[in-house]
Amino acid sequence: MVTQTEIDRLSAAPVTARPLLIEGAWVDGTGDPLPVLSPIDGQPLTTLASATAADVGRAVTSARAAFEDGRWSRQPPAARKAVLHRLADLIQQHALELAVLGVRDNGTEISMALKAEPGSAAGTFRYYAEALDKVYGEIAPTAPDVLGLIHRDPVGVVGAIVPWNFPLMIGAWKLAPALAMGNSVVLKPAETASLTLLRLAELALEAGLPPGVLNVVTGPGHITGAALALSMDVDVLVFTGSGATGRRLLEYSARSNLKRCYLELGGKSPNIVFADTPDLGAAAQSAATAIFRNAGQVCVAGSRLLVERSIHDDFVAALSQASARMQPGNPLQLTTQIGAINSEPQLDRNLGFLRDAVAEGGQIVLGGDRTLTETGGWYMKPTIVTDVAPHHRLYREEVFGPVLAVTPFDTEDEAARLANASDYGLAAGVWTANLSRAHRMIRALRTGVVHVNTYGGTDGTVPLGGVRQSGNGHDKSLHALDKYTDLKTAWIQL
Ligand code: NAD
Repeated sequence: MVTQTEIDRLSAAPVTARPLLIEGAWVDGTGDPLPVLSPIDGQPLTTLASATAADVGRAVTSARAAFEDGRWSRQPPAARKAVLHRLADLIQQHALELAVLGVRDNGTEISMALKAEPGSAAGTFRYYAEALDKVYGEIAPTAPDVLGLIHRDPVGVVGAIVPWNFPLMIGAWKLAPALAMGNSVVLKPAETASLTLLRLAELALEAGLPPGVLNVVTGPGHITGAALALSMDVDVLVFTGSGATGRRLLEYSARSNLKRCYLELGGKSPNIVFADTPDLGAAAQSAATAIFRNAGQVCVAGSRLLVERSIHDDFVAALSQASARMQPGNPLQLTTQIGAINSEPQLDRNLGFLRDAVAEGGQIVLGGDRTLTETGGWYMKPTIVTDVAPHHRLYREEVFGPVLAVTPFDTEDEAARLANASDYGLAAGVWTANLSRAHRMIRALRTGVVHVNTYGGTDGTVPLGGVRQSGNGHDKSLHALDKYTDLKTAWIQL
């Protein structure tokens, strides 16, 4: 049982960030160091090393050498499994330390960070540790005078670029399957959330991961991330982040070695409430947490609420009540339900969306402004905007903040049409007592995930990924292994 006293003790300690991890050694970057400000109070927390293209080149060379000499890629599966399990053990042993460090770095409320960050990362390493010796090649049903073997080979060097929300969880979604399949990795965390991943890399070395198998380069996206994506020696690039960066990565791939790119991008996910929902109070509570936990900085956040017109006003009233109880606070307090906004530019961007929403005819019925300014940190009230139409910016673009757009609908067909009226296709929610309608909606919705009579639930056994401009490829589950393996056919004349 975690206590507030322990959290307070850990959060009082000064933070020293490890620099770059290359070939198992911590080395300084040759770029200008980056100051890290804590979103909790806007104060300097530590300084981050910055990797130039030359540093990234060294990291990729190290990863390539590790892959080629087989120090990890040709270890027996049982040996790789043992290391990944040891890493999971170490993450669990250091769970509170990791959670507190992450909260100080990126502002997620600690109650959520404890579950979603070290807890989930340890589970992901265990899942792929267990999977790695259960995935086989195939024998094709060829003519009898031929043997067709389908091998599943590791791809080689994986470049992984991850965002600032849930860095440990999302980092583990990339690292665990990549390492399980025998690849080497160069990881580039986000500028505003690198600290826990640097600590994770330290634990990976302690767990026995050979030097060079995991390299970590921190620094600005347009320098460090771009160098990784432009490398001629990275075989596969896995990315979670914004669509704008995703587009650049595809360009970088085209300009370099045509590396495969898997993009997990943003969303504008519809949460659809029909009037026959059995428990509208529970649906209202869930709709609030679907958008406001982690201050809306969740890729699958239910950021568009579509409500059947006959219950619209009552539902918005219940939702507003539930949301008003979720006020932002110090993310390091166990009781806080909404933490900080990750950075000041992100907070300004969120507020800009509201100015546009009002100018286009939206009505702010809850929140709408910055709060807790006296802390020096970046906080925003949970905000609900009604009367949002499909042509409004708030309907179309991802805010990635605590802002919910509400739109009424009259029929099931209209609900599906409105839900799909988006360039994105990450997640959706459907609330109804009608089983047939639930299945019709699952078929109709063009998204990678559909939640029914809940919102946001998941575990490691099911894939997460988007369609359309929410990206391609999937994290989690055995399907993620496809990204980290190449199929090779052996055609043998008998
Ligand atoms: P971002 O695209 O700004 O940054 C993501 C990463 O890309 C960071 O490490 C950044 O340094 C790097 N980067 C930035 N510019 C780059 C460039 N030119 N070349 C190479 N790398 C570059 O995204 P963000 O603001 O950190 O994250 C928020 C976004 O991530 C939101 O859109 C959110 O929806 C999305 N997201 C998606 C999922 C998912 O699973 N689909 C999960 C979490 C977050």
